[in-house]
Amino acid sequence: MVHFVGAGPGAEDLITVRGRRLIEQADVIIYAGSLVNPALLTAAGEQCQIYNSAYMDLEEVISVMEQADKNRLTTVRLHTGDPSLYGAIREQMAELDKRGIAYAVCPGVSSMAGAAAALQVEYTLPEVSQSVIITRAEGRTAVPPKQQLSELAVHQSTMVLFLSAGLAGKVREELLAGGYAPDTPTAVVYKATWPEEKILRTTLDRLPDAMEEAGITKTALIVVGDVLGGEFAKSRLYDKTFTTGFRKGKDQ
Ligand code: SAH
Repeated sequence: MVHFVGAGPGAEDLITVRGRRLIEQADVIIYAGSLVNPALLTAAGEQCQIYNSAYMDLEEVISVMEQADKNRLTTVRLHTGDPSLYGAIREQMAELDKRGIAYAVCPGVSSMAGAAAALQVEYTLPEVSQSVIITRAEGRTAVPPKQQLSELAVHQSTMVLFLSAGLAGKVREELLAGGYAPDTPTAVVYKATWPEEKILRTTLDRLPDAMEEAGITKTALIVVGDVLGGEFAKSRLYDKTFTTGFRKGKDQ
């Protein structure tokens, strides 16, 4: 059996209780060494074999899982944040399917939640943005044409950009071309929830310069949108006059 486990954004106590238990019980752990906090591995048993996938290709990862499965051992594949976002788990699952190896997924706290907590921001504010676009700028990995940043910009929603810290110039250019105002509030969170976390607040127009000044080139999320600004409307859910399934609204 293979468990794909979300390690959380960095802080070692931001893994789920289930994820931690799976680490404690694992015979084999393959962790994404570039981003997973190695402190999480101290929960593993003494006999556990540990591999860093930063030095492995897909075939090597699968071969470790396959060997473990043959020996009736349990493997934990530890991915940063939540495995469903840019986790490259689908290709591993497809290989496991071919070999008839069972697997399960344990969710994790994504860095986008870690960044929101660091910024003390709500991504979805009434009348400001009720949608969040999770995306990336096109670099070495292609992005489908209809999902280019300039196309997505049309919605003026909250936008959370993964894997784009080295492409700030392109992010700025495409989002401006797509219609965001130059003074749209923009934030960068470097290593959210790690001790070395850094927060940068700027505008879309100033983004590349501000990032260069701060020396941030990787392991960061870029958040763009008016939810970072001062304006918002209150929710209906907690409005005194609003009736819900749990609470009857008052006249005034
Ligand atoms: N599955 C992960 C994302 C993996 S892709 C998740 O849910 O968070 C790797 C990218 O995620 C990095 O390039 C960076 O953009 C972002 N990232 C991961 N951890 C981060 C952190 N602690 N702070 C800021 N960004 C982070």
